[in-house]
Amino acid sequence: MNCQLIIAGPCAAETEQQVMSTAKALASLGVKYFRAGLWKPRTQPGSFEGVGEIGLQWLRQAKINTGMAVGTEIANAEHARLAVAAGLDFVWIGARTTTNPFAVQEIADALNGNREILVLIKNPMNPDVNLWIGAIKRFQQAGVQRIIAVHRGFSTYNSQFSTLNPQFIYRNDPQWYLPIELKRQMPKLPLICDPSHIAGNRDLVAPLSQKALDLDFDGLMIECHCSPDEAWSDAPQQLTPEQLKTLLNTLVVHERVDRNSELSELRSQIDSLDTMLIETLAKRMQVSREIGDYKHKHNMPIVQTGRYNDVIQNRLELAEQLGLSEHLVKQIYQLIHEESVNIQLKK
Ligand code: PEP
Ligand code: MN
Repeated sequence: MNCQLIIAGPCAAETEQQVMSTAKALASLGVKYFRAGLWKPRTQPGSFEGVGEIGLQWLRQAKINTGMAVGTEIANAEHARLAVAAGLDFVWIGARTTTNPFAVQEIADALNGNREILVLIKNPMNPDVNLWIGAIKRFQQAGVQRIIAVHRGFSTYNSQFSTLNPQFIYRNDPQWYLPIELKRQMPKLPLICDPSHIAGNRDLVAPLSQKALDLDFDGLMIECHCSPDEAWSDAPQQLTPEQLKTLLNTLVVHERVDRNSELSELRSQIDSLDTMLIETLAKRMQVSREIGDYKHKHNMPIVQTGRYNDVIQNRLELAEQLGLSEHLVKQIYQLIHEESVNIQLKK
């Protein structure tokens, strides 16, 4: 795949030598953006929290040696000022920072009116698309012109206990409908995926990267380290530059030509089916209202569990015959039933 929007580099800058050798290897693959964390917000005190300011010089040197654009994570106004003064090309707002509007505002103010720097804004730790959009707006309102959103998955109760519950395989649950919703609300904003922090382990980076491209993401941010197993942070998820090369060679990039006219017949079928769905739902709710009146008149309880179980059972059987997923139909019926109960409660 072409490397225009591939951002790669170690989780953290550790030594000058590690930064230079990783940068050199990535530049030789054609990577144009090199990342390395200098200030690392860690869950536990005592973990490696980054080399700090000294690493700015290493990033600058990596830029001079390789020609790549270089960037790091910033978590407060001081980091922002240092990053700008060091001439970094891009910075990113980490997931822990995006959750905090005061910190985001302070950084946006520190970058006020900066038209050159590229600011990547990761989703917040918690699955809240409005918080993510709010952070993006703070930078837009501060006059930052080059912004990219980064989807890195969401921390959930389940993912923290993934060893106990192996069905949750991700470090941070992707919850793809959230970045899709961001794209719907901000269609002009470029959106890239950070499969490394979603995965938490290097074997899952390739399938997640492909999924992001299938969903029309604009690029990828991937953690790469010259000796990943010896990394001081996020060792299990980092790739070697060689592994990144294989990944980039195997990813399938989809065409972005406008095929809307060819799809228009199918889309008009979808439009009329959706009209039927909504009309049917409205009719169903009307019948539910009449049932509510009847129950009210005859002093009957609103919820009759036996009836609800029969409805679900019967609809699931029909759904299975028609090849619909059980998950979809269960979710839809839960919502429909909830709405029906609400309508009847309002009597
Ligand atoms: C990182 O990119 O190294 C990082 C700490 O990311 P996140 O904020 O997504 O956890
Ligand atoms: Mn990391």
